[in-house]
Amino acid sequence: MTTTRSVEATIRFPYKRSLGPVMGAFMTALTEQRFLGIRSGERVLCPPREWDPDTAADLSADDLVEVGPAGTVESWTWVSSPSAAHPLDHPFAFALIRLDGADTALLHAVDVASPDALSTGMRVAPRWKAERVGHITDVEAFVPGEVPQGGGGAGAEEPVTMMDYDAAITYTTPVTRNEMRAEAANAEGRFLGLECPACARVYLGGRGFCPIDALELGPEHEVELSQRGTITNYTIIEPVQYPGQTETEPFARVHVLLDGSDVILGYQPVVEFPVGDVRIGARVAAVWNDTKVASGGGIELDGWIPTGEPDDTDPNLVNRIC
Ligand SMILES: [Zn+2]
Repeated sequence: MTTTRSVEATIRFPYKRSLGPVMGAFMTALTEQRFLGIRSGERVLCPPREWDPDTAADLSADDLVEVGPAGTVESWTWVSSPSAAHPLDHPFAFALIRLDGADTALLHAVDVASPDALSTGMRVAPRWKAERVGHITDVEAFVPGEVPQGGGGAGAEEPVTMMDYDAAITYTTPVTRNEMRAEAANAEGRFLGLECPACARVYLGGRGFCPIDALELGPEHEVELSQRGTITNYTIIEPVQYPGQTETEPFARVHVLLDGSDVILGYQPVVEFPVGDVRIGARVAAVWNDTKVASGGGIELDGWIPTGEPDDTDPNLVNRIC
């Protein structure tokens, strides 16, 4: 398989979470440049939990106590190439820090110039952000020494009860020769198929092999595909207004089995097809958009529009999921 380029994709899961009485109090205290731990028997846990992770005992917000602000590095690992999601934009350490008065360790960044400047048992103190919102990143990082740095200003006016959480993962996938040829065909308003010489199944999207026969497919197996197909399955999405969601009304995503092909095109948008009319067996045709051609781009698929042909009534359509 020849690879000449790759694409980077990021999947984000932004959401809000409620903090509850214990973490809420911890986050509120951060806005006041204070750390809270919670008593559990003879121990103080920091960060505090609603349950003791060892004994499963219920813990009460009444048992929160102040700890720190300085602490001791218990272990650490060096981050030499921080990503955009890391708390600092230059190399730093993640460390387990046991704040004074606590018996468990808090994970946070330590900002030192090199790994040589860090050691287990080292004393560190927080460097607070000037603006604090009730998030663990209200501490920009810990720094060597006993004295907190940064900070200033007042704490939160109201108790912090919610937290924005933005989980994301970025990965890189190679674009194969077949996929590039399929993309190029799409840019001309065509669908390219690859036909297995053994079983004659036709695959879409530049798939490089027949999974049934374990045969590699290449340009010599290309076939032109129809612009029409049948909906085999669909989903109606009621959009939740999470960050980044641009849809406000319910919308459909359909799986289309192209005529003459053996695999479906998944999660396709529809055009001029009311949500209430979308159904299995409906006949649809591709709608292409050439508005980007003038500026040097390619044709893009807008979605699938009903053709008005009679529905396909094959009861096995719904089983076509890939
Ligand atoms: Zn095959």
